Amino acid sequence: MAEIAGLNEIRKKYRMTADYHTHTVYSRVGPYYHGKGEVADNVSAAAMLGLKEIAITDHGPSDIYGLRMRHFDRIRADVDAAALLHPEMSVLLGIEADLKNTSNGLDITCEEAARFDIVNAGYHISVPGCRAPQSIISTRIGAPAGSLEKLRAFNTGLALRALYSNNIRVLTHPGDKGPFDMRELCRACEETGTWMEISSRHTHMTVSELKISFDYDVRYVISSDAHKPSQVGMYETGLKRALEAGVPLDRIVNIVEVE
Ligand SMILES: [Zn+2]
Ligand SMILES: [Zn+2]
Repeated sequence: MAEIAGLNEIRKKYRMTADYHTHTVYSRVGPYYHGKGEVADNVSAAAMLGLKEIAITDHGPSDIYGLRMRHFDRIRADVDAAALLHPEMSVLLGIEADLKNTSNGLDITCEEAARFDIVNAGYHISVPGCRAPQSIISTRIGAPAGSLEKLRAFNTGLALRALYSNNIRVLTHPGDKGPFDMRELCRACEETGTWMEISSRHTHMTVSELKISFDYDVRYVISSDAHKPSQVGMYETGLKRALEAGVPLDRIVNIVEVE
């Protein structure tokens, strides 16, 4: 119960101003919908919460739930329609691109990335082509140290290539779904001005990863990573980890104290 009390206290003291990471029904594989709401539903939910900005960031083309580029034209139309209904808010067309072993480290080209208002990027190991060999991935559970280090170097290399080759706004859930050299990620986010995500959906960045990041001049964003409209604007668990780690509030771009 202590944890719940903590979250209530957080709700009273702080609020979120923008949610830069949400998914919709466009993220799907066959009949299985990874996201459960329409663009309009996510935007309405954000408006109800009084957010000033929301981004629709469905998965890039190489993700198992990902979209082909032409599908983003339909999301753009939905985003524009929702924006007309909510002139008080900024509604952004974004993407959660996959880190991938390509020349720019992403599953979209730099030209394709330019079509979005905001580009986020994250690592999703279930994606063919954006991962190390399966034999190395399987070592995550009881791996020989050598292989794990190989995977860490591979993953970190992908992230650095993506960060330095593109204009990425948010590195989503850094440290999640595979081993990374967190110091290398932090250094690259510092040098490129990329926000490091503290996810309310995923456990990374963890408190200990956040403490490592204090050695670098990075800024953070709390994200819901909502997969349903009811999850839009969820910041409490992410912020709780940030506060536990001691992240200064002025380093978090989308959280303010309630006056
Ligand atoms: Zn993700
Ligand atoms: Zn996501």
